[in-house]
Amino acid sequence: LFIAFEGGDGAGKSTQAARLAEALETRGLRVLRTREPGGTPIGEKLRSLVLDHGHGHIDAHTEALIFAASRAAHASQVIRPALERGEVVLTDRYIDSSVAYQGAGRDLGADAVRTLNEWATSGLQPDLTVLLDVDPADGRRRRTAGDAAEDRLESEADEFHSTIRGAFLELASSRPETYLVLPADLPVNELAARILTRVDALLAS
Ligand code: C5P
Repeated sequence: LFIAFEGGDGAGKSTQAARLAEALETRGLRVLRTREPGGTPIGEKLRSLVLDHGHGHIDAHTEALIFAASRAAHASQVIRPALERGEVVLTDRYIDSSVAYQGAGRDLGADAVRTLNEWATSGLQPDLTVLLDVDPADGRRRRTAGDAAEDRLESEADEFHSTIRGAFLELASSRPETYLVLPADLPVNELAARILTRVDALLAS
């Protein structure tokens, strides 16, 4: 079972992925939690290349290719092997992030970015995508309340983040059967419970 967590910056994806992992492990399932960009040594290098400030301007095509390269390594070296071992894989971001950030946010077009990423992953798709829908202002408040400085993408204007939000919602409405869309401002426990209910249904099917 392959589950992706998607949503804007500050939506709470990693918190919910951790909660779900814990719940599934309690049931005796083996779970692999991973994230993008990153997830492999080369992926972590690509992550800092594309997210750290200080590399100067990175044009949109270059950005899309770096994310796709990181995802290719992640899919072939981490996700597929874990699925083959029978583990449940939870990833913090996957192809939809690229369709939203590079396709819509950077204006490269959803279809081109999807095609690039389907090629990069040899068509590996999640069984379920959990979309945590976050208001951009709220997301900014949540991530700046934490510790770290904003990365290169996070520090884009709210307008950029609103475009991303719209793109995620559009993706979800185009394939509602494989999405669970939840408002990110629900209490953490309620979100965790709703996600677990949906995953339980999938496991039982
Ligand atoms: O918060 P997280 O670890 O998911 O951060 C990854 C960063 O990469 C975020 O700032 C996100 O906006 C950005 N990103 C992106 N395009 C992707 C995936 C992530 O711009 N395809």
